[in-house]
Amino acid sequence: MSYRFDVLTLFPALFDGLRQESLIGKALETQIISLALHNWRAFATDRHSTVDDAPFGGGAGLVLKPDPLVKCLRAEVPADSRKILLSPSGRRFDQKLAQQWSQLSGITLICGRYEGFDQRIEAHVDEVVSIGDFVLNGGEVAAMAVMEAVARLLPGVIGNAESLTEESFADGLLEYPQFTRPRDFEGQTVPDVLLSGNHAAIAQWRLEQRMARTRAVRPDLLREPVTK
Ligand code: SAM
Repeated sequence: MSYRFDVLTLFPALFDGLRQESLIGKALETQIISLALHNWRAFATDRHSTVDDAPFGGGAGLVLKPDPLVKCLRAEVPADSRKILLSPSGRRFDQKLAQQWSQLSGITLICGRYEGFDQRIEAHVDEVVSIGDFVLNGGEVAAMAVMEAVARLLPGVIGNAESLTEESFADGLLEYPQFTRPRDFEGQTVPDVLLSGNHAAIAQWRLEQRMARTRAVRPDLLREPVTK
């Protein structure tokens, strides 16, 4: 059975490229994953199909109303799908969450717009998640980032499954530096050890590089317990 992604968005056409290209496009074609897009504007009941309104208490912009969105969730999303609200105020998305979610049968990603969601929508979701400490115009790019991170962990999506175990974050460290041909690029040469054919020395060098890079760029990762 396909891993099922459901996405609630007011701008479904933004997903056209993702659906057609690259590994996600291929995973859809081979039915390793499925993607159902839901525009909850269809559940607005007034003449203008309104999905947003002015905030109580005043303030800038418009807030997404709860009723059409929650109606859409109830009518179109499988009950057992994990429902994730995308918001800068959420828990930070990371590789561990991607791994956890890849073990489920599917997830639902809810993309906000404008000033974000009426607070009462949170009672109808399982998690509120942010992809980083910055503000996007809408949740669609965040949903695509989460989809890619989860989908590439599913069996059959990445050609070489070994590459997953050696990647950044797979075991709590960043990846080692990679080199390909040519051996000399404008005076920058490939480290000798990588040309030595000595696999033990290469493995040792790579581990040292991973430690040094993580210490320099992301010391916070070294403070977290290392998980396999
Ligand atoms: N007023 C909100 C705030 O200050 O937190 C920002 C709303 S933002 C302009 C509109 C929508 O984009 C949000 O509802 C959310 O769905 C999405 N979004 C923006 N930044 C995001 C992030 N870092 N992670 C996940 N979703 C994000």
